[in-house]
Amino acid sequence: MKLPKIRELLEAIKALITGPYTTKFPYKPHTPHQNFRGQPKFNPDKCVGCLACEAVCPVEAIDHRDIPDPQNPKRIMIHYTDTCIFCGSCEAACIAEGIKLSNEWDLAFFDRTLAEETIEKDLELCEICGEVIACKDHLKWISEKIGELTFSNPTLYLSRLKSLRVIDENLIAASKDYGRSDRTKMLCARHRRETTLTTQ
Ligand code: SF4
Ligand code: SF4
Repeated sequence: MKLPKIRELLEAIKALITGPYTTKFPYKPHTPHQNFRGQPKFNPDKCVGCLACEAVCPVEAIDHRDIPDPQNPKRIMIHYTDTCIFCGSCEAACIAEGIKLSNEWDLAFFDRTLAEETIEKDLELCEICGEVIACKDHLKWISEKIGELTFSNPTLYLSRLKSLRVIDENLIAASKDYGRSDRTKMLCARHRRETTLTTQ
């Protein structure tokens, strides 16, 4: 008979004293190691809706849907939990700690339509055409990042003044005629350019 090696004997004795390495899941809940890389989770308070995570995800597990309703414009950030490979690229690319790997691992489900997690972010629209500019929190983030340079760009300083509640929410302009006097508005790139170049 082949005798067990010393190391195997020691492991067997250790397992007798401290219990087995394997857990009793699903009969008992399993708590993974603190460094376990599990499902990424959005933090709706920190995410600014910049889409960097979507751009770097290697398997397109992150997506977004814009709803440019003038009364309540929203960006829905979507994470497909059945596609994600838990690589952590989204966390690494995130500019605001808006997504982080959690230790969630028990993700089995029967209904695949449930395999998505979403958060909502408020959008800023062009006041002339209603085109999506960016998320409000993203404009605020840029404004805070560049400091006083914010005041060289009306969209950014209006965004900052709104977040400070110094001015009200502007409404999308009813009139499609616009000119130089409309420069101090939230504008998309096209209308920023056009209101700058127009002579009226
Ligand atoms: S962990 Fe990787 S695969 Fe999953 S959402 Fe983030 S970037 Fe995509
Ligand atoms: S802030 Fe982070 S989580 Fe939010 S959209 Fe940007 S990269 Fe993704």
